[in-house]
Amino acid sequence: MNAHDSEKVVGTLLARGYSQVETPEAADLVLYNTCSIRDKAEQKVFNRLQNFKRQAGKGKVFGVLGCVAQQEGEKIFDRAPHVSLVAGSASYTKLPEMLVQLEAGNRRVTGLSLDTEETFDTPFTRRDNPHRAYITIIEGCDKSCAYCVVPFTRGPERSRTSESVMAEARRLAESGYSEIQLLGQNVNSYRDPSPEGWDFATLLARIAEIRGIRRVRYTTSHPRDFTRAIVDAMDANPVLCNHVHLPVQSGSSRVLAAMQRLYTRDDYMRRIDWIKSSRRNMALTTDIIVGFPGETEADFEQTLDLLDQVQYDSLFSFKYSPRPNTSALAMEDKIPDEEKTRRIMILNEKQRAIQIRRNADLIGNVEEVLVEGYNQATGQWIGRTSQNRTLNFTHLTGDAASLAGVYMHARVTRAGPNSLAGESVANVF
Ligand code: SAM
Ligand code: SF4
Repeated sequence: MNAHDSEKVVGTLLARGYSQVETPEAADLVLYNTCSIRDKAEQKVFNRLQNFKRQAGKGKVFGVLGCVAQQEGEKIFDRAPHVSLVAGSASYTKLPEMLVQLEAGNRRVTGLSLDTEETFDTPFTRRDNPHRAYITIIEGCDKSCAYCVVPFTRGPERSRTSESVMAEARRLAESGYSEIQLLGQNVNSYRDPSPEGWDFATLLARIAEIRGIRRVRYTTSHPRDFTRAIVDAMDANPVLCNHVHLPVQSGSSRVLAAMQRLYTRDDYMRRIDWIKSSRRNMALTTDIIVGFPGETEADFEQTLDLLDQVQYDSLFSFKYSPRPNTSALAMEDKIPDEEKTRRIMILNEKQRAIQIRRNADLIGNVEEVLVEGYNQATGQWIGRTSQNRTLNFTHLTGDAASLAGVYMHARVTRAGPNSLAGESVANVF
């Protein structure tokens, strides 16, 4: 989501006549987009700003964007006096006005309001990838997970109209993009604000019907709002990629209640059963937090047991990190860092073994891949399957033309924990 925010900001700047340079050193204006989901990410921002400081005074202007900007606000000016702009993502609609102020020499420009009804809907987006394009369908979050800073940094939930989302998707298809990735903190709670009133499953189905779109992905889903209608839509149209990212956070219903996740382990497993009973072979991935306050060894073992039960294709694991404003900050029974480290290592080791087995099961399969690039060192093309796996493959027809952006078929001949390897089997489609 941050990568796509940066694309929108770059597009807005280009439309105002700015041009992009390769390095911060070469730039007159440096806008630094930031994440504050965990403390480590936030610390990096201040270290980096410190490095930028050495370049200040050479006429350069610095700005901080994103969640750290929203969270720390004007305090950033105290910690890094060489910064001139501080703006959270909910204020990006006002970026053109803020740029006018910066250009006029204003040294303290802020965009920190969260009470916006608007979404940052810009026609100027400058996209990094020529084949896959992100589309934001919903911004902000109305949940209040006890550990999470997002509702404080990205504001309340706002859905874009289906008309505006569909128009952007059609424009992208016409300009040659074949893969669309729908973005939101909780895409399943999408609700079209226009009279059509589409829900997320309807939006998915309609986007998948657009001519020229060959793959549609979405992230992230909140299990509470994940409906059977979404699985039915995916079953009905193979353009919707067979991958669901469904963050569980913990396998213990007791911890889920403390996290205020609004579902139990059984509720979550019901969704997993829907997905697994689909006609298509869906890949499943998740997010897990270890060491949430009060998480006992027995709770953690339930998370390990959940991994055995679900057999995820991959997961993101995090050590719980206390965040400002969140309700978990005041909770007792903090888990020491060494214990969090022990748990995350056990978790990752277990998941690695699962991935080795699951990937090995694919040996011999022929998969459709979208080619993303070429690895000179290995002599292999890099492809991505519908299940979102990386499949590196050789292609021996001898033509040196770039295959990037092309859909091909490749047979899996080897498998590791994080990727597959193989060889192309058919002509270019
Ligand atoms: N909206 C998504 C959801 O509800 O699943 C997730 C958004 S968050 C940007 C991505 C992941 O970061 C979460 O799923 C969670 O696992 C992790 N995360 C969020 N806050 C965290 C914290 N305070 N400490 C550790 N991990 C955290
Ligand atoms: Fe954070 Fe929970 Fe909202 Fe996801 S649903 S962004 S974890 S508050």
